[in-house]
Amino acid sequence: MSKYDFNKLLGTWKEMPFAGILPAGTAVEYKTGTWRTFKPIVDKNKCTNCLLCWVYCPDGSIIVENGEMKGFNYEYCKGCGICANECPVKAIKMVPEHGGE
Ligand code: SF4
Ligand code: SF4
Repeated sequence: MSKYDFNKLLGTWKEMPFAGILPAGTAVEYKTGTWRTFKPIVDKNKCTNCLLCWVYCPDGSIIVENGEMKGFNYEYCKGCGICANECPVKAIKMVPEHGGE
C-alpha cells in the first residue's frame, strides 16, 4: 500500500482545480519557426499532392491551396521533420536552416 492515500489528497476529478488551460487560438502568437535548426524543402517534381504531410504536421505549417501542397509556413514550422518522414514518395528533405553542414 502507498504511503499516501492519493484519493484523499486529490479527491475526485470533479474537485480538482483547473490549471494550465489556455483559451483556444493562442498558438498563433507563438512563431515557433525561430526554434528551427533544420527546415523542410519540397521537390514538387516528386510530390503527388497526397497531403499526408498536411495531416501529420503538428504545427499546421503545410500550405495547401486548391488541394495542392504549395510549401511551408516557415513562421510556424519548427523543423521537426515529421513531414519528411511521412511523405510516401520522399519529396520532402530536411536541410540545415543556415546552410551549415
Ligand atoms: S506528403 Fe509528400 S507527396 Fe504528399 S503532399 Fe506532402 S510532399 Fe507531396
Ligand atoms: S518540419 Fe515539422 S513543423 Fe515543419 S512542416 Fe514539417 S511537420 Fe510541420
